[in-house]
Amino acid sequence: MDFETKVQFLHGVGPKIAQRLKKLGVETVHDLLFYFPRRYEDYTVVSKINKLPNTIGEYKTIKVKIINITNRRTSRRRFTVTEAVVADETGSIKIVWFNQPYLTKMLKPGFELILNGKVTFDSFSRQLQMESPNRATKPKIVPIYPETAGIHSYYIAKLESRIENLASKIQEYIPAEIIRENNLLSIQAAISTVHQPENSASLEKAKERMAFDELFLFSLQKQLTKRDIQIHKAPAMQIDEKFLQNFVKKLPFKLTDAQRKSAWQIILDLKGQENLKFKIQNLKLRNSYDKNTTKPMNRLLNGDVGSGKTVVAAIAAAVVVKNGFRVALMAPTEILANQHFSTLSEILEPDKISVGLITGHKKDRCDADVVVGTHALISGKTKIDNIALVIIDEQHRFGVSQRARLLTPYESTNLAKVQNYESNDNETMKQSNNDFFRPHFLSMTATPIPRTMSLVVFADLDVSVIDEMPAGRKKIITKVVAAENRQKSYDFIRGEIKKGHQAFVICPIIAEGDEIQNAKIKDQNYGMDLFEEDRKSVTKEYEKLSKEIFPDLKIARLHGKMPATPRKGGRGLASGGKSKQEIMEAFRNGKYDILVSTSVVEVGVDIPNATVMMIEDAERFGLAQLHQFRGRVGRSHKQSYCLLFSSSGSENVKKRLSYMESVSSGFKLAEKDLELRGPGQLYGYQQSGFWEFKFASISDRIMIEKATEAAKEIADGGIEKYPKLKEKVGETAKHLE
Ligand code: ADP
Ligand code: MG
Repeated sequence: MDFETKVQFLHGVGPKIAQRLKKLGVETVHDLLFYFPRRYEDYTVVSKINKLPNTIGEYKTIKVKIINITNRRTSRRRFTVTEAVVADETGSIKIVWFNQPYLTKMLKPGFELILNGKVTFDSFSRQLQMESPNRATKPKIVPIYPETAGIHSYYIAKLESRIENLASKIQEYIPAEIIRENNLLSIQAAISTVHQPENSASLEKAKERMAFDELFLFSLQKQLTKRDIQIHKAPAMQIDEKFLQNFVKKLPFKLTDAQRKSAWQIILDLKGQENLKFKIQNLKLRNSYDKNTTKPMNRLLNGDVGSGKTVVAAIAAAVVVKNGFRVALMAPTEILANQHFSTLSEILEPDKISVGLITGHKKDRCDADVVVGTHALISGKTKIDNIALVIIDEQHRFGVSQRARLLTPYESTNLAKVQNYESNDNETMKQSNNDFFRPHFLSMTATPIPRTMSLVVFADLDVSVIDEMPAGRKKIITKVVAAENRQKSYDFIRGEIKKGHQAFVICPIIAEGDEIQNAKIKDQNYGMDLFEEDRKSVTKEYEKLSKEIFPDLKIARLHGKMPATPRKGGRGLASGGKSKQEIMEAFRNGKYDILVSTSVVEVGVDIPNATVMMIEDAERFGLAQLHQFRGRVGRSHKQSYCLLFSSSGSENVKKRLSYMESVSSGFKLAEKDLELRGPGQLYGYQQSGFWEFKFASISDRIMIEKATEAAKEIADGGIEKYPKLKEKVGETAKHLE
């Protein structure tokens, strides 16, 4: 038997069980070794029987001797009950098992054993008892594996024990110096302990090793990607300081310090200030930049909604265009693309920088200096060349592989005929490297990313943070509104609309009975669920508001089932014939007073005249996402309000929503979200890979720093020296695709 042996050929496993194991991702013995328990039950912490009355309802472990044990048949239902009385030195307790008559043959009076089960109180016999406890003969920690139909955890544990001896044959893949520096367990010991822990101390050590591996391998992969990019060259920009000063002076507002700093970091990247001191060690090929080339910028611009990222992007674009190159800006939706198009036109055209738009429906000046668009930008037909800067807004809205594809087309179509990115052939690379370019890359996101998370997830990017709001912005007043004050809120909204302002009403679903729109927000409710009829839907609220509450006002609705853009050739759709884009534009132009919408409204849409954001069933959304909604208002000097409604009586929910009242920093709310709900739920970053981790914790900052530091060292020093590690990283990368 070796690692590649199919589990099907293990003793007692046939094709049928092998099929089920495959569902768990286990095909080979190697897979099985790396199939990890979800949690552990610790039978080593033994309770005394006289303490059990205080622990009714809890799972406890006791170490006992059998006093007597008998089988009896139940009269009505036909099954066997095995009843035993067991005792330790402090007292005795009754134990019952069902339908295991053979137990009386195995467990004779005087026999000593360990039992783990739920402590209950049998109100009939008025006695403490334990029902169907698990048995063990010596104290141990029992691994609990994720199960699937027909495959129980204990069966997996049994299989693991059969291949135990193979654990010692696993080849270590982490370099010895890293193991030493971080005081890690060997992979052999860790794997063996993870499956068959001897005590909690050694299990902790093993888990620590596995957590390190997850973080280290993930970061290493990111670091390698980063260096892959640095193999390429990008054109270095000349910085015309006079022009920049003038450009900034002409803006209708004064830049915040955070905007200045971010813009400056970007400018330095574009200029390639590091050219002279920059070198990548151990890359077979050493970049030889001349004065016209530099390493490509690979930067994330992270700033809260409304912090003013667009103007920073505009500065970068202006620099690039002034150097004779073109810029592409890609947004996830047509609405956003349109918005960027008009904002950038306003900022850039006075300087004779032309701006064009390419979406699925519109092609306007495709040959402009700055081309804004949706996916349509890269869908092939329109060839955009001479691109030296690619900006992607809300990058996480593009899928992982989609995202990867986003950059590649530029590599083959821009000035910038870049070498085959996949190419491992160093000779080809060396040659092509002299002639080919990769554009600079700027990614923008309004999702505040906690530092621990960005250290790992964005290890491949440099990060600029705009952590400051433009001056004069009023703080949005946020209130969790009690059900009895609903009418008051409607009166309040009416008052705002009288002043000529507008309001949003957000609902989690489109229509009753609909699946919650965002699968992501389904499970975040601490297991508490609402009755279907309590949920607010766009359809129902729209009806209610337009017929009962505000019959005199102009109300529109918006949801994900509407077409994104106007259908060619006309109307006749269920939504009244309107597309999302038409509704948004009409709302933006003040044609409606209130917009009832699902979460489709969340990203980046700028409607400065809106001052009220009312959110129904607010507990259905995470804090980070609520914050995104809130960012739709307060985008001007006007005082804005966010009203949160919830039909949940849960204390947890109340507490969580109350953070929205007191905390206005998106970064703080994101930290809180991370703490309360874990990384998988952090809005917008479900794809980050973090929730795939079984051992690593996002809150373990020390471990994260150690692992990312180690990954950086290896990537800097060159991974080629460590073939085992390289292979392992490859496997991990494939798994995360
Ligand atoms: P986001 O970071 O969410 O993309 P935007 O770039 O859309 O934010 O900017 C939000 C609004 O703030 C825009 O109307 C923009 O004109 C304005 N703005 C940007 N920077 C400043 C500033 N320094 N002072 C005042 N207003 C600003
Ligand atoms: Mg924006």
